[in-house]
Amino acid sequence: MENTQEPRLQVAMVPTPGMGHLIPLVELAKRLVHHHNFAVTFYVPSDGSSMKPQKQLLQSLPNSISTIFLPPVSFDDLPEDVKIETRIALSLTRSIPNLRDSFKVLTESTRVVAMVVDLFGMDAFSVAREFGIEPYILFPSTAMVLSLVFHIPKLDEMFADEYRYLPEPVKLPGCVPVQGIDLIDPIQDRKNIAYQAVLSLCKGHRLAAGIMVNSFMDLEPDAFKALMDPTSNLPPICPVGPLVQTGSVHQVNNDNSKCLKWLDEQPSGSVLYVCFGSGGTLSQDQVNELAIGLEMSRQRFLWVVKSPHDKATNATYFGVDSIGDPFDFLPNGFLERTKGVGLVVPSWAPQAQILSRGSTGGFVTHCGWNSTLESIVHGVPLIAWPLYAEQRMNAVLLADDLKVALREPRSGSSQGTELWVREPIVLDFIVFQAYEEALGVLRKLSLSEDQNSTFEILSKTECVKSMAIILQRGSVETRFDALTIF
Ligand code: UDP
Repeated sequence: MENTQEPRLQVAMVPTPGMGHLIPLVELAKRLVHHHNFAVTFYVPSDGSSMKPQKQLLQSLPNSISTIFLPPVSFDDLPEDVKIETRIALSLTRSIPNLRDSFKVLTESTRVVAMVVDLFGMDAFSVAREFGIEPYILFPSTAMVLSLVFHIPKLDEMFADEYRYLPEPVKLPGCVPVQGIDLIDPIQDRKNIAYQAVLSLCKGHRLAAGIMVNSFMDLEPDAFKALMDPTSNLPPICPVGPLVQTGSVHQVNNDNSKCLKWLDEQPSGSVLYVCFGSGGTLSQDQVNELAIGLEMSRQRFLWVVKSPHDKATNATYFGVDSIGDPFDFLPNGFLERTKGVGLVVPSWAPQAQILSRGSTGGFVTHCGWNSTLESIVHGVPLIAWPLYAEQRMNAVLLADDLKVALREPRSGSSQGTELWVREPIVLDFIVFQAYEEALGVLRKLSLSEDQNSTFEILSKTECVKSMAIILQRGSVETRFDALTIF
């Protein structure tokens, strides 16, 4: 039960655009409200994109979590091919005057004790400090990527060429080696303005009062140990994950219920779920190959399909919904030929619930960190098809270190996966079915799918147990000292 005693201390949260940033902040907010009796106010910058799922999610929250949508900023002056990271960073930079005005009002009426931003939120630090408030980061990715964030300024000084030409893999403390080509997307083109923006954000991470990471010790013990070493000279770093959706962010609608009902009718572990997050898009050729691969495999599948984009791998990042009807881009007759075996859902599906269903046996994913955590928590093995952002690094962690994912053959291209699907998808899913026995055990540990459980904190012990089985590590230490930063 939510504690309604007054007065409540306030935490301000400033998510930059993207469901992948908003979802973990919302989960953190729920925990602050329900377990620590805080009130939370979200300040949401935007570029005026529709933000339907974002709004649904924010509107579903209890009264003690309020939202202020900042006036949309304009990107009319930016070139068309501007990188997504520049737009994300600028949505906040251009909202700072409005954020300051709004935040001032909050500080006048309540006692604000902290501001929490995500990995693009450093511009808001000055606003927090102006009002004597400490700024924290909720880092919505791995300890490995955070380690890279602190290493990028050094890389920048040490190496003048593009990182894909690094002669040796990068060895971040406590992490598996990562090739230059697999480093985060916005540093792959040093001439692009996104590079300087990211470099500056990386340096800005050192100015946080503390960094909460949406990962956990048992998943990345050595990377965390290195980051938390007192001699590292970094801000306090605290693993607070896995912050995953513990209920539905979706209003119950026909499409969602149809898709979950269909899943419930399928045999255990038989369905391959295919989804590339809120933003991920494939080219027309890749859509064709994926469709043919799925059809040839004769495996059951559930595919969240988006209209293709031949230039960007993240074309729906800001708006989630596809332009046009995604079904128009599927091969002729595909829907009829796969009827009964496969279900195709346009643009958006209730993913957390799909991954918790017993019939979901594998997940073809872009390796967005929220999707990855949701899959790990529910014990669903992954086929990694990274597209943008830090997703190639996540794929390296999942495939080379944790060994919970199969990865596509490396293409040597930084623009996403080449056409590899037709044969491998059949083979990979057969390999996955060998996990079946372990998955049966894992599912017993899965979260309740009951809508009412939205505010239940994820049982950390259960999650750690799941991971122990998945990672085939004998015993694991349960260590979640989340939120002690506050
Ligand atoms: N998601 C969803 N339905 C979809 C696509 C995505 O519910 O059809 C949710 C997914 O469960 C995850 C988030 O959106 O929580 C996507 O975050 P992630 O970090 O995986 O990827 P991003 O969208 O930021 O690239």
